[in-house]
Amino acid sequence: MCIKSVCVYCGARAGALPAYAKAARAFGAALAENGMRLVYGAGDVGLMGEVARAAQAAGGETFGVIPGHLEQREVGKSDLTTYVVTETMHERKKVMLWNADAIVVLPGGAGSLDELFEALTWRQLGLHAKPIVILNTEGYWDTLRVLLDQVVAQGFAGQDTADCLIWVETPAAAIAALRETDC
Ligand code: AMP
Repeated sequence: MCIKSVCVYCGARAGALPAYAKAARAFGAALAENGMRLVYGAGDVGLMGEVARAAQAAGGETFGVIPGHLEQREVGKSDLTTYVVTETMHERKKVMLWNADAIVVLPGGAGSLDELFEALTWRQLGLHAKPIVILNTEGYWDTLRVLLDQVVAQGFAGQDTADCLIWVETPAAAIAALRETDC
């Protein structure tokens, strides 16, 4: 297994269904149980808090990155194994991505979409080759899939862009996808 550090993008809110938090907790614990470090936005709110607390409780290593101006709003989780405070959002995204071997996207809002699309476009441009896994809990990201299919069908991206994403439905399948990755 070559994936040792996983960047998780997910909501600073918990979302409408309890299933989102449940899957976030299961995934955080599974990362720890599989010896994979969690890299994330260092907040203790919403799904971000759920995944981080579960990883910590299972004895996992955690690496959080938060801009100083969000420490209060997103309740900076300073008891992580490593807690990095950046000046800007751009720096945060860069430090997160560059300290991970793979990316997993849980349900989230505009921030998670921004982070996903940066990772996807950078991969499309050949700036990295990290696998990007979409954990599609309760079909939350189904409409994203439809949107990407439309982008490809209408000639604004190649199929290779859509193919960068690995779609899974459960935390266990996300871990299996990470473990199967060739590095
Ligand atoms: P959301 O999915 O909207 O709940 O946001 C998830 C996380 O993404 C939160 O920690 C936000 O602060 C963060 N975020 C939102 N926009 C950006 C951005 N442009 N760059 C870096 N992080 C962001």
